[in-house]
Amino acid sequence: MELTEIKGIGPKTVQSLEKMGIETVEDFTTYYPYRYEIIRRSDESKLNQNDRIMMDGVVEQTPTLSFFGRRKNSMRFSIQSLYNRFQVVIYNRAFLKNKLMVGTKVTVIGKYDKIHHRIIASELRFGLIEKETIERVYHVKEKITNKALTQYIDMALSLPYQVEEVIPDYLNERYQFIDKKRSIEQIHHPNNPELLKEARKKLIYEELFSYMVKVSHLKQMRKRQKGIERVISESSVKEFIQLLPFSLTEDQERSIWEIKQDLEAEYQMNRLLQGDVGSGKTVVAFIALYMNYLSGYQGAMMAPTEILARQHYESLLEQMHGKNIKIGLLTGKMKAKERRALLQALEDGTMDIVIGTHALISEDVIYHNLGLVITDEQHRFGVHQRTNLMNKGKSPDMLSMSATPIPRTYALTLYGDMDLSNIETMPSGRKPVITTVKTEQQIREILTEMYEQLELGHQIYVIAPLIEGEEDNTKNDVVTLKENMEKAFGKKYQIAALHGKMKASEKEEIMNQFSKNDVQILISTTVIEVGVDVKNATMIVVFNAEQFGLATLHQLRGRVGRNQLQSYCLLVSNHEKERLQILTRTNNGFEISEEDFKMRGSGDLFGSKQSGDMIFKIADLRKNYKTLLYAKKDSEEFLRKVKEEPQKYQGLLNQIIEGKRYVS
Ligand code: ADP
Ligand code: MG
Repeated sequence: MELTEIKGIGPKTVQSLEKMGIETVEDFTTYYPYRYEIIRRSDESKLNQNDRIMMDGVVEQTPTLSFFGRRKNSMRFSIQSLYNRFQVVIYNRAFLKNKLMVGTKVTVIGKYDKIHHRIIASELRFGLIEKETIERVYHVKEKITNKALTQYIDMALSLPYQVEEVIPDYLNERYQFIDKKRSIEQIHHPNNPELLKEARKKLIYEELFSYMVKVSHLKQMRKRQKGIERVISESSVKEFIQLLPFSLTEDQERSIWEIKQDLEAEYQMNRLLQGDVGSGKTVVAFIALYMNYLSGYQGAMMAPTEILARQHYESLLEQMHGKNIKIGLLTGKMKAKERRALLQALEDGTMDIVIGTHALISEDVIYHNLGLVITDEQHRFGVHQRTNLMNKGKSPDMLSMSATPIPRTYALTLYGDMDLSNIETMPSGRKPVITTVKTEQQIREILTEMYEQLELGHQIYVIAPLIEGEEDNTKNDVVTLKENMEKAFGKKYQIAALHGKMKASEKEEIMNQFSKNDVQILISTTVIEVGVDVKNATMIVVFNAEQFGLATLHQLRGRVGRNQLQSYCLLVSNHEKERLQILTRTNNGFEISEEDFKMRGSGDLFGSKQSGDMIFKIADLRKNYKTLLYAKKDSEEFLRKVKEEPQKYQGLLNQIIEGKRYVS
């Protein structure tokens, strides 16, 4: 059913909903709340300033209305509750005025202002409360509010929507799961804790089961998938390694030989190269590209941002200097003429290696003979982006790189369809970054430490969670921080800001200035999170560090300490100190990700939960790891059954494979 079947949904709303992955009425029904808030009638004898309260009563005095600004209004009235009389203020609800007659029963939800003994209401409901209400909290995006979404979902649930049952009957019986439709109703309208538990159990399992069916299926497919068989000259590779300005670590070497074997083998490579920030994955990727080139094929490497793509491009040019290899850079923002020339060269095979953003998978990009596809920071791309790039060649080999290492046990299950190469040791000579946690009140100390680094001729990254502090004055923003840093250091040092809303050309310009040391302090949101490499930067200061997951902070920290200089990371936060302290104790990404798994679930590793492109909607890998293991076993059993009784199970398998939202 189309979304517009639902009252109140117009084309604009459809656009926002699509970004949340909601495209049909059915999608609403499987858009699960991530938590519930139980609201009870507040105890009138225990009201404190700023409490969020719910109070019911009878209208005592009809509303007075005042208008201000453009189309804004406030309405005041009073209610008599069981024991008290409250003033109520509510904004922009002028349309309710005529309904609020003396004697009307209403429930007011909002914030209690003790000083004026009034309620700043966010919501009005007609009628008195029965015991308590349960509010569902959904992840929302753009202009969609939780309230609107709740209404859409309720409307969807009242329509004759389709329910897709993807768990085969024998498993539903084995685990005595409740019916899918009932689970969906319960998850949105819980009315019984026991039943809610059953519903969650079912839906979590369903999610993990379909995920594991996909992974196991991919694994089987891949075994059958013939790839490119080739021979690569070992001596040429060794020679290349000899000419590097450093000697490779053992893990780097092992990864390279593992990749070489895969490239040469007759099956298609599907390998994940995991290693901490700064562990030296890029050079391994470059050597893979070189080996692929030696065997006569084109290679493509896809980076998540323009900045990174350009950086890889430049260092690849440097590394391949004098080798007569033709290397191109393809991004979304190229001039039409340049782009045409590049596409031509890719198609006729004169271009050997191309680095780029997801522009690499645009429809009009045609490769002559793509033999190797590399994606950097693989968890940022959905599967279909990866497969789209892969489909540009005839079963090209596939290498994914991730700087967010996940513990081996999880990796083996989650990425069961990939082989793993881990780089666990850092190149020698690196000094671990010294990390400290500071409060915002220690700003003087922070500035002093920054000053010391600047005086040594070094550069500094400053990170803030927001671009411009609009409503949220509890968090630091790039623009304000830049002003403050100008005040502190502006006379002597150059300060620049960088954030995701800037044009690519502006960002590039600023990054260039920073890499040339024309700018000494770079203030930024997390757009510099991945990959950027400026060796002279020795300090990173993260404001509102509590806003970030440990894995993200660890990645940010990886921007510094990139050579022999002692580097520093200052985490500024007035909250969650204990969690942040973990980073002061260890520099090992595998350990940190283990902790992150323990403390926050998997959210951080698979895209923030708000982003809509997370893998799981309801399952939490940390809490549901046992279920995941069951799901893995069951998925393998299921695939056996598909083979034995295709007429019975093939349809279900297809349905799971084509199911759109789960990434594998
Ligand atoms: P990442 O794994 O985060 O992609 P990079 O590949 O960017 O790390 O490597 C970080 C830095 O370390 C780069 O400047 C690179 O040239 C350097 N590097 C890589 N391998 C070694 C090594 N074996 N010895 C010394 N430096 C190295
Ligand atoms: Mg990298």
